[in-house]
Amino acid sequence: MNASPEDVLALVREDLRDFAGYSSARSACLEGDLWLNANESAWANEADPAEACRRYPDPQPQPLREALAALYGVAPAQVLVGRGSDEAIDLLVRATCRPGVDAVLVTPPVFGMYAVCARLQGAPLVEVPLRDDPVEGLVPDLGAIADAAVEQRARLVFLCSPSNPGGAAVSLEDVAALARRLAGRALVVVDEAYGEFSEVPSAAGLVGMLPNLVVLRTLSKAHALAGARIGVAIATPGLIAVLRRCQAPYPVPGPVAALGVRALSAQARAATADHVTQVRQERERLRAALQALPGVRRVYPSQANFLLVRFADAEASFQALLGAGIVVRDQRAAPALDDALRITIGTPAQNARVLEALAVLDARTGGEGQARSGTGAR
Ligand code: PMP
Repeated sequence: MNASPEDVLALVREDLRDFAGYSSARSACLEGDLWLNANESAWANEADPAEACRRYPDPQPQPLREALAALYGVAPAQVLVGRGSDEAIDLLVRATCRPGVDAVLVTPPVFGMYAVCARLQGAPLVEVPLRDDPVEGLVPDLGAIADAAVEQRARLVFLCSPSNPGGAAVSLEDVAALARRLAGRALVVVDEAYGEFSEVPSAAGLVGMLPNLVVLRTLSKAHALAGARIGVAIATPGLIAVLRRCQAPYPVPGPVAALGVRALSAQARAATADHVTQVRQERERLRAALQALPGVRRVYPSQANFLLVRFADAEASFQALLGAGIVVRDQRAAPALDDALRITIGTPAQNARVLEALAVLDARTGGEGQARSGTGAR
């Protein structure tokens, strides 16, 4: 049975349920033409003649909120705008987990911020490792996740879909089944930072039916605005209101909000869609080319804008890339990835440089690394 939106508020920390948060000057609904209520300067800064920043911004800039809601096919009241999806992760942990009591469940190897925020909050961490399937790649064990969440009192279950760094996406049926199973017990948070690159549709459309489901989106990846720090939590309006009260007073600077709206114009969205198509094509091309290199043991299937690659000699490969001026993400400290690097998909020319640097290494070692470590899973 699905939980009601009211049941979901029972998952918010009891001590925060009637917490009003900070009442900013911008949140009071007052009318006037002379605003002397926020101790702002009466004069613009020399560097800001258009006064883009003289006043505090709207805490939830309405045009941006509406544009994001339209982008993700949800209502504005279901959207919280914040400083990247990183901030949404932090707010969710702080709003729902009592230190030392309510756990955060993660599926390693996975994006590290979930564990960082749990640690900062003093929330116990429950780890249910991804399964390494020979065909599908690194996929969550949904039965084990549900059991562990119930047994170990998880308040938050983070599913990264597509997963960073594994690359696999979780089907909507699996997301819905997990949310139903954990109704009244935990929030299921689907982090779709790489959703645009995936064939699996967004879970955002399920939020209206499944009040314990939260979806995270960002303009940092496909929309090419990592530096603007615009991220979104999509959830039932009551939960959005709770997160809003836990958030810093003015999270989205005015110029950033204006940039976000421009970045979601029809024209900009068409260009973004074109780049996403290119990334998907390049991803499959690069995957096949990498897999053919003798020093590569396995390239995982990916629904994202990166590839996770296991090497016969990951150190030599990392250094060879670095020697060619190419910086990739070293994954060797992550659980079960002690031979892996994560490579972001670039332009065709950039991807060609990656292949060239690795081919030069193979030519130098004569595939020696491969011979040393056997055939490996390809
Ligand atoms: N989720 C995942 C899975 C990520 O990989 C990242 C960034 N690397 C984020 C969230 C955070 O993105 P941002 O804060 O830029 O929205």
